Parts: sequence; structure tokens; C-alpha cells
Amino acid sequence: MNAYDTGAGGTERTFPALPPARGRGFARTWWGLAWLTALEGTALDLAQLKAGRRLARAGAVGAVSVRPGRITAVVQDRDRTAHRADVLLQELSGEQWDRFLAMTVARAGHVAALLDREMPTHLVEDAELAGVDLLPGPGDLEPECDCGAWDHCGHTAALCYQLARLLDQDPFVLLLMRGRSERALLDALQSHGDASAGRSTRGPEGTDAAEAYAAGDILPSLPGPPSLPAGPGVPPSLDTEAAPVAGIDPPALEFLAARTAARAHRLLEEALRGEADAHAVEPSVARDAVRLAAGEPDPAVTDRLAEGSGRGGEGLAVAVRAWRQGGAAALAVLDEEWTVRGDTLARARAALDSAWEEDERPALRARANRWTVVDAPVQLRLSRDGRWWPYREERGRWVPAGGPARDPATALASAEGAAGA
Ligand SMILES: [Zn+2]
Repeated sequence: MNAYDTGAGGTERTFPALPPARGRGFARTWWGLAWLTALEGTALDLAQLKAGRRLARAGAVGAVSVRPGRITAVVQDRDRTAHRADVLLQELSGEQWDRFLAMTVARAGHVAALLDREMPTHLVEDAELAGVDLLPGPGDLEPECDCGAWDHCGHTAALCYQLARLLDQDPFVLLLMRGRSERALLDALQSHGDASAGRSTRGPEGTDAAEAYAAGDILPSLPGPPSLPAGPGVPPSLDTEAAPVAGIDPPALEFLAARTAARAHRLLEEALRGEADAHAVEPSVARDAVRLAAGEPDPAVTDRLAEGSGRGGEGLAVAVRAWRQGGAAALAVLDEEWTVRGDTLARARAALDSAWEEDERPALRARANRWTVVDAPVQLRLSRDGRWWPYREERGRWVPAGGPARDPATALASAEGAAGA
């Protein structure tokens, strides 16, 4: 959720085009709905609103650029004619922003809610009491379109419907239209907070631990777990017209944000199913580089991961293949060689003995936890949990050839199948 200074004192965020959204509403949050109510109170021609909804649902709205006072997108008609549509909203004055910041700092919950991408009704009400209208009212969304319409046309209406979807995900979009970027706002909130803390004679904010413990019995019980979103969601595009700050790599950041969202979604899914990962391994930078590379990043990001992980391009490609066979456990099998002893060795030998009929058993040469078939480019590797992992030789390198099996014959058959393919 970064925005770049354009250098002209303003900021701009660009959101990629959203996929078609057939048969669903455009806003789920109350503030997204309030935005649409303002549109419906502004547009005189209901037929244009209907046309706008149809275009927005069909995915005809291109990337949406959000700047102070203005949103812009190219909207394609059904006949593929492209129109530049703008919608203007008045920015808050410097004095109004000061009042908004003072009000927000005074209520700790307001900042926390914004950081959670929530806009509580009481934040908007408190702002109104301070003379600051955050949400637009009827007549506030002023259209400008190169199709020549003087009122809202299908294009500007489509842009407004699309923006309602973006607002749902991130109320900072509205605050940016009102004149301040998320970064500028958070910095200002910080300095306002420091200033008021400096005037106060009380200690740092918070609750005394003994008081909190004593209050334990009277607190309401925790809410239930959240329901699982349909997907991890798409982070906003960082591809703006402005050059990034030195040392910032926008495609790498976008990729990281997308992978993090996907991982969070999976962890939530597992947690809601009550599943703890039995093969959970502590994350490490080296393993994480492989996990990220398995997410098919842009080639420049892959190159950075190859270098940063110390594996090099080919080594990383092999590690990614291992990761796809079984995550961190499979990567350990690729990387680690360990001596098999005692009971583990006895069990491994018994498994190898019983896996094949006497006359079908391949000749195996053992080294550490690896059994290589004599005269064939295939190998079995034993993991510490007693599973067998098929490997085959490719251009002088042992590479994973399939998923693990309890039965060595099954594992070897998949390696041989892969080698023959
Ligand atoms: Zn138009």
C-alpha cells in the first residue's frame, strides 16, 4: 500500500483493472455504499448509471489512477471506443486536515481502525462534528468525460462503481482523493500524537497490567474467528508514472505483497480447519527465498532470489522443483545428507527388502541417506520421517523426480517413469 510522491507535492496511486464482476454488488462496506449513494444523488440520468454498472461489471474500466481531488480511468465502450473519464471531488483545506488529525489522534481507536482498512461510522461522525466531510454527498462527485456529456455519462458512472470496489478494500483511497496520501497522513498522525503526548503529564498510553488482569472476568468473550475470504486478494499496483525512490524495487514489492497475501490466506484456511502443519519447519531466509521463487515471480525478482539465496539460477530452479513436491520437508531432502543409524537403518533396510520380489530388486549402492541404483540415473532419498523421495540425475545434478512414498518401490517407479519421460 505504497504511494509515491510525484515530486510536485501531490501523490498518486494506480490500481490495476479489476476482473469482470458479474452479478455482484459494487460495495459491501457502509462507506462504499455511501459513495454510491452520493453518485446516485449526483447523476440526473438513471439510464447512465445503469450503463455505468454494466460497463464496470464487464471489466471495461482500465487502471484507476487516484490523486488528490481527482480519479481517472480509461473506459471502453462496447464498440471498443476508449474514453478518458475523470471524477472530481473537492480536497479538504489545510485547516480541515488539521482538525481531522487532532480529532483522530484524540481517539486511539480511529488510527487503529484506519490501519485495519476500516472506516468506523463514529470516525466519520466525529469528523463531521469537527466540520470535516470525508464522504461525498449528493452533487459532490463532479464528472468530466471526453465523450462530451455534461452530466455523468456511462463512463464516469462506471469509474465511480469501480472506485466503490477499491474503497471497500481501502478507505485510504478516499483520504487520498481528499488530499493526503496514506504515508503523509500516518506521518502527520505520528507528529500530532507526539506533540500531544509531550503536553500531557500522564505516562505513556496503555493499561496497567494489574488493572487489565483484574478486568479479565468482566470483559466480553473474544469474537469468533473471521470467515475465510474467497481468495487472498490482489494488492494494488505500484506502477505509477513517478519514478520510485532509490533502492525501492516496485515489481519485487508487488510480488512480495501478493505472496504474503496468498500465504496469509493459506494459514487462515488451515487455522480455520483446525489443522496445524505437522511438517512445519522454522522459516529461514534461505528457505524463504525458495518459497518465494516457487511463486513464479518476474524474472528480475527470480535473479535476485537466486543471488540472495546463494544457490545461483540452476540451483534455485532445482530447489523450486523440490519445494513444489513437498515444501520445506522436500527442500531438506534436497539439501541435507545425514547418516542413517540404529533403528532407522534397520527399518530402512527392512522396507527395501520387502519392497521387491527377489528377482526384481534393483542393485542399490548406499551412501548416507541416499540409495542410488547401480547403472541407472535414479536414486532414493530417505527423509527423517521415514518417507522415500525419488531423485534422478539431470546434467550432472540430482533433481527431485516426484513426491514421497512410504514404499521405496513406489518412489523408485516414479523416478524411473520421470527419467523415461
Ligand atoms: Zn463519457
